[in-house]
Amino acid sequence: MSTLLLCHRAFLDHATPPGHPERPDRIRAVERALEQERFAHLCRLDAPLAPLEAAALAHPRAYVEAIAALAPDVGRVQIDADTSMSPGTLEAALRAVGAAALAVDEVCGGRAANAFVVARPPGHHAERTRAMGFCFFNTAAVAARHAQKAHGLGRVAIMDFDVHHGNGTQDIFWQDASVFYASTHQSPCYPGTGAASERGVGNIVNCPLAPGDGSAEFREAMEAAVLPALDLFAPELVIISAGFDAHWRDPLADLRLTEADFGWATRKLMDVADRHARGRVVSVLEGGYDLEGLARSAAAHVDALMGHA
Ligand SMILES: [Zn+2]
Repeated sequence: MSTLLLCHRAFLDHATPPGHPERPDRIRAVERALEQERFAHLCRLDAPLAPLEAAALAHPRAYVEAIAALAPDVGRVQIDADTSMSPGTLEAALRAVGAAALAVDEVCGGRAANAFVVARPPGHHAERTRAMGFCFFNTAAVAARHAQKAHGLGRVAIMDFDVHHGNGTQDIFWQDASVFYASTHQSPCYPGTGAASERGVGNIVNCPLAPGDGSAEFREAMEAAVLPALDLFAPELVIISAGFDAHWRDPLADLRLTEADFGWATRKLMDVADRHARGRVVSVLEGGYDLEGLARSAAAHVDALMGHA
């Protein structure tokens, strides 16, 4: 079985203001990196357009409809200081959701070994009823709920190694013991949540890292806290909120990971999935704002998913 890669040119049409770090070139940079010969065996599919109901798996229907109603025909609608909608935003956000659901279908249906969704806008800052931090719909959360609803899975884990805490994912599953959420992130940093004391109903593990921390501290947090908790939870599906902005080159934060760290973390999460989840891993792109760091990290991530040495 092969690794599935989901993308769509509509992800280029979510326009952000000039100079905004969350920009269409991010998708182009990842796609270019994955054009290398060793990725020729990826199974590539277009991200399907999800109905609003799909986003409503992780958000109240009224919130989803309010976002859809805000989408402008021309120009831009500002949601918060750094989050805005352009005419292409709603389609992109719904294709991100659709790609995540299809990835779950293909992996849970045994047609793909694992999957990587290369989409924007990202999702992990989107709370149940609040768009923020470049995010509108929580793609990883939709994937988890879809796996439970459409495939009958009981326990789903989401591991988030984006440099920012996934406040949205934590908010959505705060009282839901069927979904485990673990995050490594820089603290202090946007959005300010993610203290180790934030534990939900025991289903949440937060590992704040200090500015300047690098490979050693990240791997220690994974091995001491995240991976043992994942093994205890024994997920039937592992979802990765794959943000690559903890890379040393990234301009938005101050962790010092390398692309090798993302490959290592991916392999460790695949090992968890092998032990408990028949190897099922679905990864969705979150942040990553230095194009070179993003491209190299995404390539290392996909190398791991494909089992490259
Ligand atoms: Zn981020």
